[in-house]
Amino acid sequence: MRITLLGTGSPVPDARRAGPSTLVTADGLTVLVDCGRGVVMRLVAAGVLPPMLDALLITHLHSDHITDLGDIITTRWVMSPGPRPLTIFGPRGTREVVGATLASLAPDIRYRIDHHADLTEGPAVEVVEVAAGDTFTVGSATARVGATDHRPVEPTVAFRLEAGGRSVVLGGDGVPCAGLDELCRGADGYVQTVIREDLVRLVPSARFQDILDYHSTVEQAARTAASAGVGTLILTHYVPSMQPGQEDEWRALAAAHFTGAIVLGDDLTAADL
Ligand SMILES: [Zn+2]
Ligand SMILES: [Zn+2]
Repeated sequence: MRITLLGTGSPVPDARRAGPSTLVTADGLTVLVDCGRGVVMRLVAAGVLPPMLDALLITHLHSDHITDLGDIITTRWVMSPGPRPLTIFGPRGTREVVGATLASLAPDIRYRIDHHADLTEGPAVEVVEVAAGDTFTVGSATARVGATDHRPVEPTVAFRLEAGGRSVVLGGDGVPCAGLDELCRGADGYVQTVIREDLVRLVPSARFQDILDYHSTVEQAARTAASAGVGTLILTHYVPSMQPGQEDEWRALAAAHFTGAIVLGDDLTAADL
């Protein structure tokens, strides 16, 4: 199983980092988790075109995690020779957001159907709203849904994917909680979005300080990984953006609490589990 960090950025724009999105591939499995800014470009760089996706999983509906939903839907539609429904799994509210996205694409859908004789229908999208405790199958994987704590953002979920005897948890945004602990138990990999509390506290902006109460710090993610017995901790969604040369500093903060493998880096950094 390979985990590829397609986008390691956050809402704060960074020319070097796309928005949050992670690719999980294994034998018979190609799944995208979240679809932030620039995801299709990074997906192609990882060798995957949108029609190749088995599904899109969404951890929550914060804009940075879904900015390029329209691009995924449209590019899959126009690149597929025939109907190729996209299944999107996400928390309650996903159906409304996907419906609104499709509505915003209505003129484009009309233009293309009018222009191309072989295109007779718009994008086929199936939404499955999930909640903690649900399980489903995607490609060759079984998926389990866990609760996360990203309050006041609700509902939010994490996913655990198991395929070919390997497992990974996609934690999304949030602070440590029992649901996430349970989902991570014994996982080979754990992908967590993180912030640096020490650096965020230096920024004189009340709006920026607000993010401290609903995101895991690097240290908190490392402690969750340690207590759950995770094999590899994979950090992403760096706030503030991790600058070139800072990787060892971020890694050391995690290594103080977790003795397993730690993966972090630029977009397209990959971990094999
Ligand atoms: Zn969020
Ligand atoms: Zn986020």
